[in-house]
Amino acid sequence: MPLIIICGIPSSGKTTRAKQITQYFLNRFSTQEKIGNVHLINDESLGITKDSYRDTRVEEKKARASLISAVERLVSKEDVVIADGMNYIKGYRYQLYCIARAVGTPHCVIYCGTPIEIAREWNSNRGEEGYEATIFDELVSRFEEPDDRNRWDSPLFTVLYDDPVPSYDGIWDAIIVKKAKPPNLST
Ligand code: ADP
Ligand code: MG
Repeated sequence: MPLIIICGIPSSGKTTRAKQITQYFLNRFSTQEKIGNVHLINDESLGITKDSYRDTRVEEKKARASLISAVERLVSKEDVVIADGMNYIKGYRYQLYCIARAVGTPHCVIYCGTPIEIAREWNSNRGEEGYEATIFDELVSRFEEPDDRNRWDSPLFTVLYDDPVPSYDGIWDAIIVKKAKPPNLST
Protein backbone atom coordinates (compact mmCIF):
# COMPACT_ATOMS: atom_id res chain seq x y z
CA MET A 1 0.00 0.00 0.00
CA PRO A 2 1.02 3.59 -0.36
CA LEU A 3 3.95 5.57 0.83
CA ILE A 4 3.03 8.90 2.37
CA ILE A 5 5.92 11.36 2.30
CA ILE A 6 5.61 14.22 4.78
CA CYS A 7 7.71 17.34 4.30
CA GLY A 8 8.10 20.74 5.87
CA ILE A 9 10.50 22.96 7.76
CA PRO A 10 11.46 22.16 11.38
CA SER A 11 8.62 22.37 13.91
CA SER A 12 6.04 22.96 11.20
CA GLY A 13 3.79 20.28 12.71
CA LYS A 14 4.90 17.30 10.61
CA THR A 15 4.83 14.70 13.38
CA THR A 16 1.52 16.07 14.67
CA ARG A 17 0.02 15.62 11.18
CA ALA A 18 1.68 12.23 10.69
CA LYS A 19 0.02 11.00 13.88
CA GLN A 20 -3.36 12.37 12.78
CA ILE A 21 -2.99 10.64 9.42
CA THR A 22 -1.98 7.38 11.14
CA GLN A 23 -5.12 7.56 13.27
CA TYR A 24 -7.26 8.44 10.26
CA PHE A 25 -6.03 5.43 8.28
CA LEU A 26 -6.39 3.06 11.25
CA ASN A 27 -9.98 4.26 11.75
CA ARG A 28 -10.87 3.81 8.11
CA PHE A 29 -9.24 0.42 7.94
CA SER A 30 -11.24 -0.74 10.95
CA THR A 31 -14.59 0.59 9.73
CA GLN A 32 -14.24 -0.42 6.10
CA GLU A 33 -13.56 -3.70 4.50
CA LYS A 34 -9.97 -2.97 3.90
CA ILE A 35 -7.35 -4.32 6.24
CA GLY A 36 -4.05 -2.63 6.59
CA ASN A 37 -1.34 -1.71 8.97
CA VAL A 38 0.23 1.72 9.29
CA HIS A 39 3.96 2.22 9.92
CA LEU A 40 5.00 5.64 11.13
CA ILE A 41 8.71 6.27 10.58
CA ASN A 42 10.38 9.36 12.02
CA ASP A 43 13.43 10.51 13.96
CA GLU A 44 11.83 9.41 17.21
CA SER A 45 11.11 5.88 15.96
CA LEU A 46 14.62 5.64 14.47
CA GLY A 47 16.31 7.00 17.59
CA ILE A 48 17.76 10.03 15.80
CA THR A 49 18.36 13.05 18.01
CA LYS A 50 18.15 16.70 16.98
CA ASP A 51 21.92 16.95 17.44
CA SER A 52 22.28 15.01 14.18
CA TYR A 53 21.26 18.18 12.36
CA ARG A 54 24.33 20.04 13.66
CA ASP A 55 26.56 18.02 11.41
CA THR A 56 25.09 18.17 7.94
CA ARG A 57 27.93 16.35 6.26
CA VAL A 58 28.03 13.16 8.26
CA GLU A 59 25.38 12.84 10.94
CA GLU A 60 22.48 14.24 8.98
CA LYS A 61 23.38 12.09 6.00
CA LYS A 62 23.30 9.06 8.24
CA ALA A 63 19.89 10.11 9.55
CA ARG A 64 18.55 10.41 6.00
CA ALA A 65 20.04 7.05 5.05
CA SER A 66 18.39 5.36 8.01
CA LEU A 67 14.99 6.78 7.04
CA ILE A 68 15.49 5.52 3.49
CA SER A 69 16.40 2.02 4.64
CA ALA A 70 13.44 1.88 7.04
CA VAL A 71 11.14 2.85 4.17
CA GLU A 72 12.74 0.24 1.90
CA ARG A 73 12.25 -2.41 4.56
CA LEU A 74 8.62 -1.56 5.32
CA VAL A 75 7.10 -0.55 2.00
CA SER A 76 4.90 -3.33 0.70
CA LYS A 77 1.61 -3.85 -1.04
CA GLU A 78 -0.06 -4.61 2.30
CA ASP A 79 0.82 -1.71 4.59
CA VAL A 80 0.77 2.07 4.59
CA VAL A 81 4.13 3.66 5.36
CA ILE A 82 4.39 7.26 6.54
CA ALA A 83 7.84 8.83 6.09
CA ASP A 84 7.63 11.63 8.66
CA GLY A 85 10.73 13.72 8.17
CA MET A 86 11.73 17.10 6.80
CA ASN A 87 12.41 15.44 3.45
CA TYR A 88 13.49 18.84 2.30
CA ILE A 89 15.79 17.89 -0.56
CA LYS A 90 14.10 17.42 -3.92
CA GLY A 91 16.42 14.58 -4.89
CA TYR A 92 15.70 12.84 -1.62
CA ARG A 93 11.95 12.94 -2.20
CA TYR A 94 12.67 11.57 -5.65
CA GLN A 95 14.54 8.66 -4.05
CA LEU A 96 11.58 7.92 -1.76
CA TYR A 97 9.21 8.06 -4.72
CA CYS A 98 11.39 5.53 -6.59
CA ILE A 99 11.14 3.08 -3.69
CA ALA A 100 7.33 3.18 -3.90
CA ARG A 101 7.40 2.88 -7.67
CA ALA A 102 9.72 -0.12 -7.49
CA VAL A 103 7.18 -2.09 -5.45
CA GLY A 104 4.31 -0.82 -7.60
CA THR A 105 2.53 1.10 -4.86
CA PRO A 106 1.14 4.66 -5.00
CA HIS A 107 2.69 7.54 -3.11
CA CYS A 108 1.74 11.08 -2.19
CA VAL A 109 3.38 14.09 -0.57
CA ILE A 110 1.97 16.03 2.38
CA TYR A 111 3.42 19.49 2.83
CA CYS A 112 3.05 21.22 6.18
CA GLY A 113 2.78 24.74 4.84
CA THR A 114 3.36 26.52 8.11
CA PRO A 115 4.79 30.05 7.78
CA ILE A 116 8.37 30.35 9.04
CA GLU A 117 7.50 32.76 11.83
CA ILE A 118 4.80 30.45 13.20
CA ALA A 119 7.11 27.41 13.03
CA ARG A 120 9.80 29.46 14.77
CA GLU A 121 7.36 30.25 17.55
CA TRP A 122 6.28 26.60 17.88
CA ASN A 123 9.94 25.64 17.89
CA SER A 124 10.83 27.99 20.71
CA ASN A 125 7.79 26.79 22.70
CA ARG A 126 9.32 23.32 22.61
CA GLY A 127 12.23 24.47 24.79
CA GLU A 128 14.87 21.74 25.08
CA GLU A 129 12.93 19.58 22.62
CA GLY A 130 13.22 22.16 19.88
CA TYR A 131 15.95 22.87 17.33
CA GLU A 132 18.60 25.44 18.21
CA ALA A 133 17.91 28.77 16.54
CA THR A 134 20.92 28.58 14.18
CA ILE A 135 20.09 25.02 13.10
CA PHE A 136 16.47 26.02 12.61
CA ASP A 137 17.49 28.89 10.30
CA GLU A 138 19.91 26.76 8.38
CA LEU A 139 17.36 24.00 7.75
CA VAL A 140 14.78 26.57 6.69
CA SER A 141 17.20 28.07 4.16
CA ARG A 142 17.96 24.66 2.67
CA PHE A 143 14.32 23.64 2.31
CA GLU A 144 13.25 22.90 -1.27
CA GLU A 145 9.50 23.37 -1.52
CA PRO A 146 7.57 20.57 -3.18
CA ASP A 147 6.22 21.27 -6.66
CA ASP A 148 3.46 19.05 -7.99
CA ARG A 149 4.65 19.52 -11.55
CA ASN A 150 7.34 17.01 -10.58
CA ARG A 151 6.00 13.47 -10.64
CA TRP A 152 7.74 12.64 -7.36
CA ASP A 153 5.94 15.53 -5.61
CA SER A 154 2.53 14.59 -6.98
CA PRO A 155 -0.17 14.19 -5.80
CA LEU A 156 0.66 16.94 -3.34
CA PHE A 157 -1.50 17.91 -0.36
CA THR A 158 -0.73 21.09 1.53
CA VAL A 159 -1.90 21.15 5.13
CA LEU A 160 -2.51 24.58 6.57
CA TYR A 161 -1.24 25.33 10.06
CA ASP A 162 -4.51 26.87 11.28
CA ASP A 163 -6.61 23.84 10.43
CA PRO A 164 -6.64 21.80 13.67
CA VAL A 165 -7.81 18.53 12.10
CA PRO A 166 -8.18 18.77 8.32
CA SER A 167 -10.11 16.20 6.32
CA TYR A 168 -7.79 13.51 5.13
CA ASP A 169 -10.41 12.01 2.79
CA GLY A 170 -8.62 13.40 -0.28
CA ILE A 171 -5.50 11.47 0.62
CA TRP A 172 -7.46 8.26 1.04
CA ASP A 173 -9.17 8.79 -2.30
CA ALA A 174 -5.92 9.56 -4.09
CA ILE A 175 -3.87 6.64 -2.86
CA ILE A 176 -6.26 3.93 -1.66
CA VAL A 177 -9.26 4.28 -3.97
CA LYS A 178 -6.96 4.87 -6.92
CA LYS A 179 -5.49 1.46 -6.35
CA ALA A 180 -8.92 -0.18 -6.51
CA LYS A 181 -9.76 1.38 -9.87
CA PRO A 182 -9.47 -0.78 -12.97
CA PRO A 183 -6.60 0.11 -15.26
CA ASN A 184 -7.30 2.94 -17.64
CA LEU A 185 -8.14 1.37 -20.97
CA SER A 186 -8.76 4.57 -22.87
CA THR A 187 -5.17 5.11 -23.95
P1 ADP B 1 7.73 18.75 13.45
O1 ADP B 1 7.51 17.27 13.46
O2 ADP B 1 7.48 19.38 12.13
O3 ADP B 1 9.05 19.15 14.01
P2 ADP B 1 5.72 18.79 15.56
O4 ADP B 1 4.51 18.14 15.04
O5 ADP B 1 6.57 18.01 16.49
O6 ADP B 1 6.61 19.40 14.38
O7 ADP B 1 5.25 20.14 16.24
C1 ADP B 1 6.17 21.12 16.73
C2 ADP B 1 5.57 21.83 17.92
O8 ADP B 1 4.48 22.63 17.48
C3 ADP B 1 5.02 20.88 18.97
O9 ADP B 1 5.34 21.39 20.24
C4 ADP B 1 3.52 20.88 18.70
O10 ADP B 1 2.81 20.66 19.89
C5 ADP B 1 3.28 22.26 18.15
N1 ADP B 1 2.21 22.24 17.15
C6 ADP B 1 2.10 21.40 16.10
N2 ADP B 1 1.02 21.66 15.35
C7 ADP B 1 0.41 22.71 15.96
C8 ADP B 1 -0.77 23.48 15.67
N3 ADP B 1 -1.54 23.20 14.59
N4 ADP B 1 -1.07 24.50 16.49
C9 ADP B 1 -0.29 24.80 17.56
N5 ADP B 1 0.84 24.13 17.88
C10 ADP B 1 1.18 23.10 17.11
MG1 MG C 1 8.81 15.65 13.80
